[in-house]
Amino acid sequence: MSYDFDVVVVGGGPSGATAATDLARAGHHVLLLDRAGRIKPCGGAIPPRLIRDFDIPDHLLVAKATAARMIAPSAKQVEMPVGDGFVGMVDRDIFDEWLRARAGLAGAERRTGTFERIDRDPDGTAVIVYTTARGREAQRVRTRVVIGCDGARSGVARQAIKGARTKFVFAYHEVVKAPAVHYDFRPERCDVVYQGDISPDFYGWVFPHGDTASIGVGSANKGFGLRESCARLRLQSGLAGCETLRREGAPIPLKPLKRWDNGRDVVVAGDAAGVVAPASGEGIYYAMACGRIAAQSVGTFLRTRDARALAQARKQFMRAHGRVFWVLGIMQHFWYRSDKRRERFVKMCEDPDVQKLTWQAYMNKELVRAEPMAHARIFFKDMGHLLGLAR
Ligand SMILES: Cc1cc2nc3c(=O)[nH]c(=O)nc-3n(C[C@H](O)[C@H](O)[C@H](O)COP(=O)(O)OP(=O)(O)OC[C@H]3O[C@@H](n4cnc5c(N)ncnc54)[C@H](O)[C@@H]3O)c2cc1C
Repeated sequence: MSYDFDVVVVGGGPSGATAATDLARAGHHVLLLDRAGRIKPCGGAIPPRLIRDFDIPDHLLVAKATAARMIAPSAKQVEMPVGDGFVGMVDRDIFDEWLRARAGLAGAERRTGTFERIDRDPDGTAVIVYTTARGREAQRVRTRVVIGCDGARSGVARQAIKGARTKFVFAYHEVVKAPAVHYDFRPERCDVVYQGDISPDFYGWVFPHGDTASIGVGSANKGFGLRESCARLRLQSGLAGCETLRREGAPIPLKPLKRWDNGRDVVVAGDAAGVVAPASGEGIYYAMACGRIAAQSVGTFLRTRDARALAQARKQFMRAHGRVFWVLGIMQHFWYRSDKRRERFVKMCEDPDVQKLTWQAYMNKELVRAEPMAHARIFFKDMGHLLGLAR
């Protein structure tokens, strides 16, 4: 049988670029197809584990945040210094293109085009059909396997994976010129705002990005006015007067899909597979980790021709991160429900144990086992706050 490519990766965001790089480095013939032309709306916060695991050079970090400030409904503020380390900030236009260029350097062929559908040749081979801005005729490429990394509303998942549905938080942000001098905005601090009028079920943020800042809000409540809420957040943060450079929004999937593969020759990764951390909405690290795991499964599939290898992607990812997702899901469920609970949640963040474990978990992407007493203390304080016993 002849194929145009071993693998077609649809979507060149963090998950697709990572999968394409790994597979090309492993010697496979890879096409990375991305429609291009749109900057991914994103707060752009990334943890040190991502920088380490995926060799991200320092020049891509437009800011390094050394603290977060949690803001409660009462306007009470809790500073959470990172301690050793920082949260990296990337601009997605530059970051994503750098990742795609790296895939190209690794040997992946890059093409710009919009995925339309997967056809089947008479011999059953998958044919990726895509259109380009210039050509009137759709292009067709035969491939042994497809990785769908085409984001939250993945066309690949919709077409190839049965029951590929999940819920979304809708997130909207405005990119503004950062003020040179300001009474409250700090270029090395991320603000996270837990107030019902900013978001009834998620949170709002002000993230520094060097010359710019991202001010955004998220909510799963479709009737909630995200733009109005963002305007309120800008006003209360004293950033209403800053020049607005971009306004944009996108859905964030709330739950991993139940299946990531079609049992034959398609697997999805990243937002397309629904892997964004509940409560935080953090998706870049998980997209890249997922892209890497999907690439490994695809590598095994190409070697063995055993389609069961594709199902290993979800299993391995959930083994590594399922517990953290579960804990964060419960946290979101309990603490993001009412202003009363949000107030208690922010209060809880004053606790040094909570701060330490939160940062360790964020930075390293694993629950820290070394300190069982700290976990126990947090558990009892958590329950105390939940039941309204703690002040
Ligand atoms: C407002 C907002 C703020 C966020 N803030 C953060 C944050 O601070 N930190 C964090 O970690 N996460 C954040 N996230 C989540 C994060 O952006 C995503 O989880 C992450 O980008 C997922 O990466 P991905 O590669 O799976 O998908 P995407 O980044 O969405 O990439 C998908 C790619 O597929 C391409 N594509 C789509 N459709 C087609 C098609 N038909 N044909 C060809 N190509 C196609 C697109 O061009 C794109 O390049 C935020 C999300 C939003 C919406």
